Amino acid sequence: MRLLIMGPQGVGKGTQAAKLAEHYGIPAISTGDIFRYNIKNKTELGLEAMSYTDKGELVPDELTNKIVKDRLAMDDTKNGWILDGYPRNASQVEALDAMLADLGTPLDAVVALDADRDVLMERMAKRAAEQGRTDDTPEVIAKRLETYAQETAPLLDTYGERGLLVAIDGVGEIDAIQADIVAALDAKVA
Ligand code: AMP
Repeated sequence: MRLLIMGPQGVGKGTQAAKLAEHYGIPAISTGDIFRYNIKNKTELGLEAMSYTDKGELVPDELTNKIVKDRLAMDDTKNGWILDGYPRNASQVEALDAMLADLGTPLDAVVALDADRDVLMERMAKRAAEQGRTDDTPEVIAKRLETYAQETAPLLDTYGERGLLVAIDGVGEIDAIQADIVAALDAKVA
């Protein structure tokens, strides 16, 4: 199973990606997590990424595409994967298309989670208090939602046109949402 999970910040992508990874026995790959790990460990990649993540801006495509390409080449991806937080703009869609064409491994589906802005703001404020992410301040949250609306949300149309989109309501109990996603995916991919 090769999946993307898309949706605005705070909609629960990371939580659902981890559950899907367990359900299907595939790795969940989050570009945000890869950047945070590198920032924490002060690697060269981390130092470069930090100047963008701290402002709620996208890290340049060249850097981001390379980390995804390297990650998809790892051994644990043979049975599939779920990408969380990538692609985030039209140029990353093109880059991913090229990577998957090279690997001969097409996408199976794109899970789109959505929720009202009020719910998203509330969840992110809660996460800020719990996890202390440096990009969960009110200003940066607003910027990230704006970046999502402008650059990432239009990609849902792209994948919709390809017949890959599975749209799920992201409001409700975590396990109920997970069950909705799995039912929709199994119906689509079976
Ligand atoms: P996330 O945890 O997915 O919200 O990502 C946190 C931050 O990492 C984002 O606000 C961006 O600065 C950066 N980032 C994550 N994924 C990408 C991506 N696909 N392209 C560019 N920047 C990204």
